[in-house]
Amino acid sequence: MPDSTIDCSSSTQSPRSSVNLTRRQLLAGAGAGAAALLIEPRGLKAQPPSSGTVVFSHTTVVNADAVQHDVALAVEGDKIAAIGETDAILGAYPRAAVYDGRGKALLPGLINCHAHLAATLARGFNEDFGFPNSYRLAIRPESLLSDEEATLMAVMGALESIRCGATTVVEYTGSIGRSAAALADTGLRFVFAESVRDVENGAGPVSAESLARSEAPRFSPKLRDEGWKRAQDLFDAWHGAREGRIRVFPTTALAEDSSPELLHAVRDFAEKHDLGYTIHLAQTRWEVEYMLRHHGLRPSAYLAKHDFLGPRLFAAHCRYVDDSEIALLGRSGTIVTHQAHMAGNRGVIPPIPALRAAGCPIAQGTDNNTNDMLETMRIALVTERILRDDATPGRQPQPEDMLADAAEGGARAVRQEALLGSLEVGKKADLVVLDTQRTHLVPAGRILSAWINNGQPSDIESVLVDGQFVMRDRKILTVDEESLIAEADKVGRRIWSQVEAASPVTVPRLPRS
Ligand SMILES: [Zn+2]
Repeated sequence: MPDSTIDCSSSTQSPRSSVNLTRRQLLAGAGAGAAALLIEPRGLKAQPPSSGTVVFSHTTVVNADAVQHDVALAVEGDKIAAIGETDAILGAYPRAAVYDGRGKALLPGLINCHAHLAATLARGFNEDFGFPNSYRLAIRPESLLSDEEATLMAVMGALESIRCGATTVVEYTGSIGRSAAALADTGLRFVFAESVRDVENGAGPVSAESLARSEAPRFSPKLRDEGWKRAQDLFDAWHGAREGRIRVFPTTALAEDSSPELLHAVRDFAEKHDLGYTIHLAQTRWEVEYMLRHHGLRPSAYLAKHDFLGPRLFAAHCRYVDDSEIALLGRSGTIVTHQAHMAGNRGVIPPIPALRAAGCPIAQGTDNNTNDMLETMRIALVTERILRDDATPGRQPQPEDMLADAAEGGARAVRQEALLGSLEVGKKADLVVLDTQRTHLVPAGRILSAWINNGQPSDIESVLVDGQFVMRDRKILTVDEESLIAEADKVGRRIWSQVEAASPVTVPRLPRS
């Protein structure tokens, strides 16, 4: 199970909606005609490639390794066609639309390698009670969502992702097919990581209580086959859809949920189709205890025994890995995706310096509730500095390292390094336009440092994915954001009023004298 109170692996949510959420409301502005909740045949609703060429003039181009000042960047179709001196670029593209880049900075789109978008429902609740969530509500909020409402929650997360600078999101859950079309319509680039599990006597991440009463796992070929069919159907319908903007990876939820057969099936499928795959790994002490008790191995060693580690795997969290596991992960070239904000909420930061030193490439993700990759980079920056305990503290890592993790590391995790992760000629035009003329960014000796340390998502004025503006001048262009917010607010208020009526939330504040 994901790091969530949302039962993301469930495919049996019953529609109990009293809200008449129409397709028109859900997709208004997208010009879409297909049902949001159905798996859509590949290419049925493919968008035409961009015909326009755009030149960002007299601007700053920021990559992890270099910053170019007073240059122009040309976008032609879905690609970055040129970067260079503005007059020369304008001369080469005389009919291009010109985006005045003065006072702006262009950054590569950020890649969120670990999201559960529908978990937006639990904002303001799921952050503050540990993991697995120790708060026992009488009603699970997500059980009150219809399929359409769950999709709406996921779309809200996607819109937040755009506003916070992500251009690619790994949506990691079960039954993604129900939300796939609506998510694709936001214009984001996605990896849909369809989560499969085959344990029949377990229910998601192990807690102290469930560990105490746990028995040896029993694995179910039936569950495995059902989950695997879901993954295969999603792959057939969506992998490569929308001009390749959508990819589908097979995956499993947790080490404690996965039989050796399932682990092998995921890895074999990924190898056959040249895909990546992911897992939640070493999230809690109880997960480690459970694996030792029932398999005689720590979680990473169990995965190593069944050939699951390796450079196709991006393992999320790795908070409770010991030295032997760090060595295993490093030797195998396993990528670690680091959800710094959620890790901080849970009160534990994974040993990122040791994982780096062992050879693990690092990517970043948001996990639940938030989809803000700027905040994620900032928290990753400061917490890694604290963890390092250097002789001269506060020098490493640098903001450039965070952009390298969140963009280049992410591109590696989603296996699109040749196309994503930096602003280079020939790569996809997935980019973020920052307005640098903001009180908190002027003056700035180094714009990337200023933004990661001091910036706000609202500094982002435009976002392009695959050469298309999905947000321009802070307006989302792909869906009707205003009406979606109104609907989501209505759904959220209805659900939380029911939940709180059944079990008022008591906040465990610190004692005060
Ligand atoms: Zn998760």
